[in-house]
Amino acid sequence: MTRPVPIAIVGLGKIARDQHLPALATGANFRLAATVSHHGTAPGVPSFATLAEAFAAHPEIEAVSLCTPPQVRHALAREALLAGRHVFLEKPPGATLSEVEDLKVLAAARDLTLFASWHSRFADAVEPARAFLAGRRLKSAEIVWKEDVRHWHPGQDWIFQPGGMGVFDPGINALSIITAILPQPIHLRRASLAFPANRAAPIAADLIFEDVSGAPVTATFDFLQTGSQSWDIHIEAEGGRLELSGGGSALSLNGQPQALEHGSEYGRLYDHFAGLVRRGEREVDCWPLIHVADAFMLGERREVPAFDW
Ligand code: NAP
Repeated sequence: MTRPVPIAIVGLGKIARDQHLPALATGANFRLAATVSHHGTAPGVPSFATLAEAFAAHPEIEAVSLCTPPQVRHALAREALLAGRHVFLEKPPGATLSEVEDLKVLAAARDLTLFASWHSRFADAVEPARAFLAGRRLKSAEIVWKEDVRHWHPGQDWIFQPGGMGVFDPGINALSIITAILPQPIHLRRASLAFPANRAAPIAADLIFEDVSGAPVTATFDFLQTGSQSWDIHIEAEGGRLELSGGGSALSLNGQPQALEHGSEYGRLYDHFAGLVRRGEREVDCWPLIHVADAFMLGERREVPAFDW
């Protein structure tokens, strides 16, 4: 058995507490050696205000997991890589594409692992969906990603600030799935983004993509969905109809629900990160972020009523 890699977590917010701490506590690949937080602590784990203080007190730390909002991730990732540590980036990997490129170059130059994680790609149904679609011609795909921001992100003002991406914060999860399962790449043709009058990021978006054969792929993202929530993808392909629901947790093929191997997305993410570290590899796929950047470049913008929590 290999020894657990000492790791530090930065940013003890919702996702760190809901997913990262439990995944590290149950997995065998890492040992949580420190947390870096402005406000919080994890029981029994030394806590520090800065990464520099954590590294000084615990030089044995070999890896860092960055669970902050994207706007502050680049500086922290740079600091960790310059200090010789492997880096796990929560999604999205950055607030801009160029800062992720910078991290890729730095990690390669230092021969360190950089993992731009996309947790939704590790949902139960995603690999079976990819396997089903492999080699089939796409006819059409429709993404419907509608959730209630007040329920899932209460008070997270960073999400509507520049770089927070607004409704693309969940929408990028759908884009991470679709870019993993479709047999051919897609590119954006048209987009419409709805910006609340008092916010710097969209609260809804409609996107029309095509794959390289011209098959349409549409996406509807909405942050104001109350009642039943939708994280669904419907795909018509040659010889079959596929439905992914629950954010990639359930799969039906030609109307038949499929039996799936159940596992934890974050358990799988950390196992994957451990493998990359062991093999000395990097994995930074920017496609989901490229599509979001394209939507900001190409999309028509319309103003909608102000949003308040
Ligand atoms: P959150 O609850 O707002 O937590 C983010 C944490 O980052 C804060 O609690 C804070 O922790 C730290 N932080 C450092 N600088 C900050 C700043 N300038 N503004 C706000 N917080 C700052 O956010 P979250 O939901 O955990 O999301 C964090 C990242 O995980 C995002 O990129 C998000 O897309 C991703 N993610 C979220 C979810 C989800 O369901 N919420 C799911 C998957 C991925 P300290 O007080 O400890 O410093």
